[in-house]
Amino acid sequence: MVRGDMDEEEARRIRLADLILRLRRAGIMEQRVLAAMEAVPRDLFVPPEGRRDAYAERALPIDCGQTISAPVIVGMMTAALDLNPRDRVLEIGTGSGYQCAVLAKLCRRVYTIDRFRTLAAAAESRFKTLRLGNITTMVGDGTKGWPEAAPFDKIIVTAATDALPEALFEQVVVGGIIVAPLGPQDGVQKLKRLVRTQDGFTASDLADVRFVPLIPGTAARL
Ligand code: SAH
Repeated sequence: MVRGDMDEEEARRIRLADLILRLRRAGIMEQRVLAAMEAVPRDLFVPPEGRRDAYAERALPIDCGQTISAPVIVGMMTAALDLNPRDRVLEIGTGSGYQCAVLAKLCRRVYTIDRFRTLAAAAESRFKTLRLGNITTMVGDGTKGWPEAAPFDKIIVTAATDALPEALFEQVVVGGIIVAPLGPQDGVQKLKRLVRTQDGFTASDLADVRFVPLIPGTAARL
């Protein structure tokens, strides 16, 4: 190993330790979630010009005008899913693939959908680099869910909408959980946790957030 590599590894280790400290301070105490986030190098998921800020506590721009969520939001959404090693999880909005990589460390399989081919392809190559073999990626319209692979134990939506598509409610098992930002594009959204019961859903609010919009349809040529 050359000197430069060692410095880079050391810098990453320090930034990851600091990130874990911030998660704890934000009340994220689940040991499995903290370990998963410590095991995913966030700098690999941002474009080169964003590397310096990769571990900062804010959302960062990625390709196609999209964003990767701030670390505490990723931790909060992950913890809210109460992941079990046997769970099959659907993610709407692959983006950089960062949230997906964290999920993949904690469950059996993640099915992830993005409407941009460019983003899905870049995320897939990151999953390969990190040897994450339990992720299935698709380019498509996440508002339809993934009927062929449904039902899911958990569903996470990483783009905001006023009203969740009916298909997603239908594709989670009874006892399953949906975590999604709900609210208007031009204002504050509520991060919601919905639990499916025998006869409907119970909802709780987790935080005020700002996500990019969930847009029906695919972005065919991108
Ligand atoms: N989870 C991502 C952040 C995603 S940003 C990460 O960790 O980096 C939100 C993503 O949702 C964007 O990539 C956007 O293209 C995608 N998106 C928006 N509407 C969609 C839809 N209808 N179907 C699938 N993906 C969608």
